[in-house]
Amino acid sequence: MSQVEVISATCHIDFGLSSSPVQDSLSISYQEKLSWTTDLVSGLLSTSPTVGRGAHYEPRDNAVDSLHHLDEDRPIFPGLPPLLRGHPSTHMRNGIMRAYRLAAANEPDAEKAFFVADLSVVYGQHERWKRYLPQVEPFYAVKCNPDPYVLRLLAALGTGFDCASNGEINQVLKLGIDPGRIIFANPCKAVSFVRNAAKAGVDMMTFDNADELHKVARAHPGAKLVVRILTDDSKSLCRLGLKFGAPLASVPGLLAKARELNLDVVGVSFHVGSGCYDSKAFADAVARARAAFDMGKEAGYEFGLLDVGGGFEDGNFEETAGVLGGALDRYFPDRQGLRIIAEPGRFYVSRAFSLAANIIARRAGDGGNPEDEIDPDQPTVMYYINDGVYGAFNCILFDHQHVHPYVVSLGGSFHVPDAALQRTESCSVWGPTCDSIDCVCPLAHLPSALQVGDWLGFDHMGAYTICAASQFNGFEVSNVVYTCGGGVGAAEVRAVLAGFAREGHGAE
Ligand SMILES: *Cc1c(COP(=O)(O)O)cnc(C)c1O
Repeated sequence: MSQVEVISATCHIDFGLSSSPVQDSLSISYQEKLSWTTDLVSGLLSTSPTVGRGAHYEPRDNAVDSLHHLDEDRPIFPGLPPLLRGHPSTHMRNGIMRAYRLAAANEPDAEKAFFVADLSVVYGQHERWKRYLPQVEPFYAVKCNPDPYVLRLLAALGTGFDCASNGEINQVLKLGIDPGRIIFANPCKAVSFVRNAAKAGVDMMTFDNADELHKVARAHPGAKLVVRILTDDSKSLCRLGLKFGAPLASVPGLLAKARELNLDVVGVSFHVGSGCYDSKAFADAVARARAAFDMGKEAGYEFGLLDVGGGFEDGNFEETAGVLGGALDRYFPDRQGLRIIAEPGRFYVSRAFSLAANIIARRAGDGGNPEDEIDPDQPTVMYYINDGVYGAFNCILFDHQHVHPYVVSLGGSFHVPDAALQRTESCSVWGPTCDSIDCVCPLAHLPSALQVGDWLGFDHMGAYTICAASQFNGFEVSNVVYTCGGGVGAAEVRAVLAGFAREGHGAE
């Protein structure tokens, strides 16, 4: 499927996708230097047609037509990067073409890796949440990805926020949202943080031990406490029970202590573990929460809050929602006076971010000993890309992720023939630092025609990536290009954010 998109109405340039756009873009850079401003070019590129990933081009909108809407591209939040329009893969290609132009202009760090964030995915996940779990209010777990656009969009959509530190609380309050929409969901907090929460009006907070109760009694006696109970986290990528959660047997003692200290305990929370792949864990956890509710009654409390935590996955969300909904109906049939909240993180952002990384180096063996048998599962080529486990791919170390590269450009072209895609060889993919732990993929199968300068893409890079990236070895954290998407939800995202800004919220 070859397409030729023509933006030449205004600038006499033909982006011939059927030939080699990368080479085209190089020629653009020279003309650009002659007569164009970079802004004009990126404005035009940002409204260019929708193109699918790799060699598969998808239907598109009309580039010339979309020029009429350029005024919609005025910044919604001055100080934040622009919010572009169009399919994320278009922006991945635009970013790559821009990198080629910068390289041609001898810019340092021209080929820097970058993220593309599609906010319509976040919007879509919220729609999905409301549809399948309408009885549960989401409090987005800020730690998962405190991206300024993600936080603004979710604030505008009316979610609450799960904050774990003073910094996160301040970041969310700065958006202009009510402190009642925050739960301080870290059971072990610094006293100064508790004091600041009190000052800011953040009352809801979790605890799972008696020392915390003493701290809260001193620093925030008016807190609305939530007891975090231990549940079975063995079916998740990241187990949290090792660090947090009161065993049910200890709950009566804790509640008695809270009573003694004149503290208000309003409910129960749990977290089944991040990246929970067994929906049944939620049913078991709700059953335990029921027991904790009954313990509350014994201790003289009337609990009105159930916090079912995070752990929701994109892949099995509907199933999990079904299991959770069923358990809620079974163990909490009477919802009178009961507020149910959750703390989803990964679910909202994982699929919304993709990363484009440049192959900066390649090491291929010299063929070795010709008598050696070639083992197809033994990498023969090593690729080095410009983001790694000290950066965005820290999710491999901390979040136990396996990432899967796909080819975005091959041999300097976005036009990747199927035959070339199919001629693969086993390889390994490495980050840019000098540490050998910096391995992105120990074994992958990528086209043997890949060259230094080509680009790889990685999807599902929104959760627990950017937020924990370091600048180890002098490599900067990858930037983010934002789009409101090229399809369903795009107009809504823009309208929701614009409305939020009009109300005076979200200014930097
Ligand atoms: C990390 C965390 C979350 C978010 O978990 P996800 O698996 O990303 O949904 C929610 N609540 C608490 C207390 C957490 O520590």
